[in-house]
Amino acid sequence: MLEPLFRCNLACAGCGKVQYPPHILKKQLSPEECFAAAEECGAPMVAIPGGEPLLHPQIVEIVNGLVARKKYVYMCTNALELKRRLHEFTPSKYLTFSVHLDGQRDHHDFAVCREGGYDIAVEGIKAAVKAGFRVTPNSTFFDGTDPNSVRAHFDEMMAIGVEGIVLSPGYSYDKAPDQTHFMGRARVRRLFRAILSNRKKSWKFNMSPLFLEFLMGDRSYDCTPWGSPAYSIFGWQKPCYLLQDGYAETFKEMMETTKFEEYGVASGNPKCANCMVSCGYEPTAVIDGFGNWPGFWAMVKGTFSLYKDKHALKLLDEPMPHGSGPLVQIGEPDRALEETNA
Ligand code: SF4
Ligand code: SF4
Repeated sequence: MLEPLFRCNLACAGCGKVQYPPHILKKQLSPEECFAAAEECGAPMVAIPGGEPLLHPQIVEIVNGLVARKKYVYMCTNALELKRRLHEFTPSKYLTFSVHLDGQRDHHDFAVCREGGYDIAVEGIKAAVKAGFRVTPNSTFFDGTDPNSVRAHFDEMMAIGVEGIVLSPGYSYDKAPDQTHFMGRARVRRLFRAILSNRKKSWKFNMSPLFLEFLMGDRSYDCTPWGSPAYSIFGWQKPCYLLQDGYAETFKEMMETTKFEEYGVASGNPKCANCMVSCGYEPTAVIDGFGNWPGFWAMVKGTFSLYKDKHALKLLDEPMPHGSGPLVQIGEPDRALEETNA
């Protein structure tokens, strides 16, 4: 996870990255610092979140340099500027635009606090697909999400021709402006079971099938915080992309000095109690899928399964905890339904 800057042209309610003071938001990594981090860490894939990477004046140089190093680059963007800037990039099997799109029009516009944001992002996605780029919409879901709307969103995205869908529950950032819509683990499982059971054949996911089973409550995993190491203007972040318990100057120092055993759901660390986010748990799923035969077989099976589940169908008919409708409903959280380490 390479964060070359934290400034953004949106201010989403669930974002924990753009609340830094102006002098931090002005800072950015140089292309050389980005290349050095990617080489030092050695990961085959480099996701570039932020902030909004397209606001970095040298983002094209950074992306091209990583592609030249044969890194699989997932450049995250809210796509407000994607269509206008598309001609500066070159389609490659190493480059994917990971477009922040939190569901259908009303859901997305509400989540990113910008009316019209969905239409601009979808225009950007269509233009990128047409130009031959790999594109994956990337959705984060919060409490009150309507699973029927998410399933309709999958239909719409696949019809546009995206390569696959990426999704994750939100992390309860202390700094995020909206603190009322982060979910506990039981609610995450219930929501994702409703969304991901009884899949359509047309849906493709750009994620580990075992991670999706984890979200649906079919698997129990602990976190692998070092599975998605994060580098930013502050250095190598301890212990993971989400938490900031210090920084190290080098990747080696981060790996050797972070007490990883103090993180993850089994550790009892309250900061991790409700986290089921892909940056920590998808690496565990990948290790499981490639680390043993039963895991490998489950991964292959999961790739082709439609996860038929009549109980999950009933969940689609049930009212959402905070009322129904296309919007995430702002209001007092239902404390009776709050839960943590379930
Ligand atoms: S687009 Fe991304 S970086 Fe920008 S405010 Fe929204 S969540 Fe944060
Ligand atoms: S459980 Fe979540 S917050 Fe805790 S270390 Fe893992 S990824 Fe980070």
